[in-house]
Amino acid sequence: MIQMNDFRAEPEDLILAQAAAAERVIRSGWYVLGQEVKSFEAAWAARCGLAHCLGVGNGMDAIEIGLRGLGIGPGDEVITTPMTAFATVLAVLRAGATPVLADIDPATGLLDPESARRCLSPRTKAVLVVHLYGQIRAMDRWATLCREAGIALAEDCAQSHLASWQGRIAGSFGEFGAYSFYPTKNLGTLGDGGAIVTGRADLASAFGRLRNYGQSERYHHPVLGMNSRLDEMHAALLSARLPWLERFGARRRAIARAYRDGIKEGKVRMLAAPIEEANHVHHLFVLLCAQRDALLAHMKAKGVEAQIHYPIPVHHQEPCRGIARDPSGLPHAEEHARRCISVPCHPQMSDGDVESVIAALNSF
Ligand SMILES: *Cc1c(COP(=O)(O)O)cnc(C)c1O
Repeated sequence: MIQMNDFRAEPEDLILAQAAAAERVIRSGWYVLGQEVKSFEAAWAARCGLAHCLGVGNGMDAIEIGLRGLGIGPGDEVITTPMTAFATVLAVLRAGATPVLADIDPATGLLDPESARRCLSPRTKAVLVVHLYGQIRAMDRWATLCREAGIALAEDCAQSHLASWQGRIAGSFGEFGAYSFYPTKNLGTLGDGGAIVTGRADLASAFGRLRNYGQSERYHHPVLGMNSRLDEMHAALLSARLPWLERFGARRRAIARAYRDGIKEGKVRMLAAPIEEANHVHHLFVLLCAQRDALLAHMKAKGVEAQIHYPIPVHHQEPCRGIARDPSGLPHAEEHARRCISVPCHPQMSDGDVESVIAALNSF
């Protein structure tokens, strides 16, 4: 079976580097908010081209802390997409704010600025864009929309490590960018982890307090925060994995290029190609197919794992059925949820695996 991810096939050098990093932490005798976190934060901030990075517990907390750091909470509306990991919208709710769902662009699956405009109200405080599947697009349009509306731009970068738009990295367009280092992400640790990046020193210090019980200095708690810190162990593992991100990214890109060249469109269609290669880091390779159940069965029979990102749009999840949305409805998100299917696109795939996936799709 060609799997969606295959961590056991990772290079021996990487396994050894992680083992050395883990031993370094074990022998250091310091496990929370120490040198490993500082050093990874500095490295990740630099990769994003920003002054500040705060390591946190996971990607969902990164969004919540980001919004709370901006002062967004009860009574405030945040426009975002129904076609995302549930964590995106859950983070808005956890911050106490009200999500408002806009529709997607059917060509990419990304939030549609026109629909977002229809969702604006006097209570709107931010747009939370999600760089879904690894794609970043139209950041100039989002910046204009947010400036004109007088609201904040925030970025969910959980799927878009090092994706760039006109030379700038994901997370550097909004007031903050929220990253996840869940194992399957393009940069993942061996457990949960996350980070918030920002160019603003005032936000960075607010995020630093919020992740650590709202503490400003030892035993002083001017705000009610959370306990959401990136552990020293995960920071050290991420530092060991970071040098591989570029190489793994190049492999993902080569696989996506082979898919674009090899897959014959017909019953199965591809999403729009990125405008520039740098706009897409191929966290997932997603196709659209009206006969998706049959395609899933066919891929399984051909020995290829496939998954669906995402089968149920957020507004159909039980706790979110009453959620506010574009007054024109969310027809493109509905259709996308019925048709989307993801095929393996991970750095450990061989050329033979890539050929097999293409052959399986073309024989449908
Ligand atoms: C994974 C993911 C999250 C949540 O990250 P966790 O680290 O699992 O909390 C949020 N948004 C998107 C788009 C994701 O893919």
